[in-house]
Amino acid sequence: MPEVNEESEVRQENLGGFAALGLSTRVLKAIQEMGFEEPSPIQERTIPSAMQGRDVIGRAQTGTGKTAAFGIPIVERLDRTIGVQALVITPTRELALQVSEEIARIGKFRGVKTLPVYGGQPYERQIRALRMGVPIVIGTPGRLLDHLGRGTLNLSRIRTLVLDEADEMLDMGFIEDIEKIFASAPQERQTMLFSATFPPEIERLSRRYLRDPVRIAIAPEQVTVPQTEQAFYEVRGHDRIEALSRVLDMETVERGIIFCRTKKEVDELSEALRARGYMAAGIHGDLTQRERERVLGRFRQGEVELLVATDVAARGLDIEHVSHVINYEIPQDAEAYVHRIGRTGRAGRSGVAITLIEPKEFRQLRDLERGIGQRIQRRELPSLEDLWDKRRERVKAELRAVLRSGRSLAQLRELVRELLEDEAEIDSLDVAAAALQLHVNGAEAVPVEEDFGDTGAEPGMVRLFINVGRAQGIVPADVVRAVANLSGIAGNVIGVIDIYDRFTFVEVPKAEATRVMHALQSGQIKGRSVNVEPARRRS
Ligand code: ADP
Ligand code: MG
Repeated sequence: MPEVNEESEVRQENLGGFAALGLSTRVLKAIQEMGFEEPSPIQERTIPSAMQGRDVIGRAQTGTGKTAAFGIPIVERLDRTIGVQALVITPTRELALQVSEEIARIGKFRGVKTLPVYGGQPYERQIRALRMGVPIVIGTPGRLLDHLGRGTLNLSRIRTLVLDEADEMLDMGFIEDIEKIFASAPQERQTMLFSATFPPEIERLSRRYLRDPVRIAIAPEQVTVPQTEQAFYEVRGHDRIEALSRVLDMETVERGIIFCRTKKEVDELSEALRARGYMAAGIHGDLTQRERERVLGRFRQGEVELLVATDVAARGLDIEHVSHVINYEIPQDAEAYVHRIGRTGRAGRSGVAITLIEPKEFRQLRDLERGIGQRIQRRELPSLEDLWDKRRERVKAELRAVLRSGRSLAQLRELVRELLEDEAEIDSLDVAAAALQLHVNGAEAVPVEEDFGDTGAEPGMVRLFINVGRAQGIVPADVVRAVANLSGIAGNVIGVIDIYDRFTFVEVPKAEATRVMHALQSGQIKGRSVNVEPARRRS
C-alpha cells in the first residue's frame, strides 16, 4: 500500500463522531465518501471495543448500521499477512453481497479486497479469488462449508469471525453449519455476533463460542409521537424517484422536507428532482454555514419547495409550516423517525409524514411501528389516472378562480370569437378544451395527427427508436419497465424489443405510440434521459 498524505483531503470537522473513535485517515476518508456524517449508536459503542480485539455481542434493530459497526474494525485491524483474515457469515446471498460491498467501500483507500461467496455462483471464480489471498470473505453457511470441505478455504489465519443476523440464521436452520465453521477457525480469534433479536439459542451459542464478550444492546428509545398523519408507500427499488414524484404530485406537497441517509443521496436526489421540474435544493454537512443559510432562506421564502436533507443537516433547523416530511429512505430507528416527522404540522397546522419503503424493508417498518406504538397507514402509489384526476381538480379550481376574480377577459373572448368565425366546424367547447390542453400539457404535448409511416413494425404496431442500448447497460426488462411505468400501458402489449449497442427498438400498439413516445421523452430509462423517434424502415 503506497503511503500518501491524505490528511489534507479529509474534512475532519464533518466527521467529528467518527474521528473521535480513533479511526485511520484512510478509513475516515472512505466514510466521508460514503456520505456518513455521524456514527450510529451501535457503531459508536461497538467500534472502540472491536478495534481492541474484544469479542462483541451486538443487538440493534435492522437498519441501524451494524455492517459498518463490524466492518470498520475489521478493515482497521487487517495486517499485511497473506490469507483470509476475517470471515463474515450471513444468512443470504443478497446480504453477503451487500456486506461485501459495504466493507469494500470502507476499505477502499487501504486497497482492501473482499470476496462474497454464496451458492449458485460458479466455484472456479471463487476459488481463483481465494487463491489470490483476499483478506476478507463474506459468505453463506452452505457454500462456506463446501469450500472448507474442498480445502479451497483455509481458516487457519482467521483473526476475526463475525456472525451477522444471527437470529435469521437460526430461523433458517443454519445452526449446525455455523458450529462446524466455528470449529474450523483457530481458538485464538475475535468473534462478533450481531442480531436484531435474542432468542435463547443465541445466548447458548455465544456462551459457547465467545470469550468475555462486550455486550452492546441498543434498545429502541421510548418516544412520544406527535399528532401527525402518517402513511407509507411501497415502492420497488428501480422506480424510487418515479414513485416519489407521483407521491409529490398526488399529495400536493407545498413545502416538504425529504430525508435521505447520505450526503451523496441528497445531492443525487435534489438534482433528479430539479431535472423533473420540482423546485428542490439539498442541504448536508458538506455545505458551509453560509451555503446552508442561503438554501434555508430560499426554502423559507418559498423559492424552494422541497428541501432534501440528511438527519444531521436538518438537526436544530427552525422551519415553520412544513406540509410534508418524506422519508425517502426509512429512518434508522424510531427516535430518528419521530425527530423527522416532528418537523411537520407546526403552529397549529396539520402535517403529513410519508415513508417510502421497499418490500424487503417491511421488517424495519414493523420495528418502527413497534417503536412508536402506532400503526402507519398504507397508501397505494397513485396511477397515472389518479394523477390525472388530481390535476383535473386543480385545473378546475384554477379556472374558477380566474372566472370569479372579476378580471376582464374581453380581449381573450374576442380572440375566441374570431376563431369560431374562421373555423366553421368547431364550437366554443372545442376552443376551451384546446386552450386547456395548452395550459396542462404545454405546446409540446399537443398530439399532432400521427402518421408514423412504415416503421417496419408488425401490423397495428409502431416501431420506436430509442437512443440507448447495450453500451448503456440496457436489458429488455429496463425497456418494458420504462415503457409500462412511464406511459401506463400494460407490459404485455409491448411487442418485439431489439437491443443494439447504442440504440434500441421497441414495438408498441399504434394507438399508444404517441403517448409512449412523450412519456419516454419526459421520463428516464435506467436513470438516463432518452430520445425517442418512430423508427425508419430499414432498406
Ligand atoms: P443493519 O445491518 O443494522 O440492518 P446496515 O448496516 O445494513 O444496517 O445499514 C443500513 C443502511 O444505513 C445502509 O445503507 C448503510 O450504508 C447506512 N448507514 C450505516 N451507518 C450509517 C451512518 N453512520 N450514517 C449514515 N448511513 C449509515
Ligand atoms: Mg445487517
